[in-house]
Amino acid sequence: MTYVVTENCIKCKYMDCVEVCPVDCFYEGANMLVIHPDECIDCGVCEPECPAEAIKPDTEPGLESWLQLNAEYAQNWPNITIKRDPPPDAKEWDGKPGKLESCFSPEPGEGD
Ligand code: SF4
Ligand code: SF4
Repeated sequence: MTYVVTENCIKCKYMDCVEVCPVDCFYEGANMLVIHPDECIDCGVCEPECPAEAIKPDTEPGLESWLQLNAEYAQNWPNITIKRDPPPDAKEWDGKPGKLESCFSPEPGEGD
């Protein structure tokens, strides 16, 4: 089992999660983060820290494609352990549907 970052992180990217992870297994894309499934120790500490409620245990039904996306991009994106400011328009994007289709970027973020 692992925890996965899901759609509502896209363009919200508040990054409260990165500071609490004991094994630093978050990786940064241009407009979302992912969790490396092989590094996550399933502690669950990050889940309640996410203001966008984007972090879920992969035991929840229907998250297979998100698990795949987290696994794939964790290999390509840089590690991130230090919280930066969220995007200025993060609140406007919180809860918007269809962000994967309209806004997901495969480009890497800055990392630490
Ligand atoms: S706290 Fe939530 S919205 Fe922010 S970067 Fe982490 S998973 Fe994404
Ligand atoms: S569940 Fe724990 S180990 Fe996994 S990403 Fe969240 S804080 Fe890190």
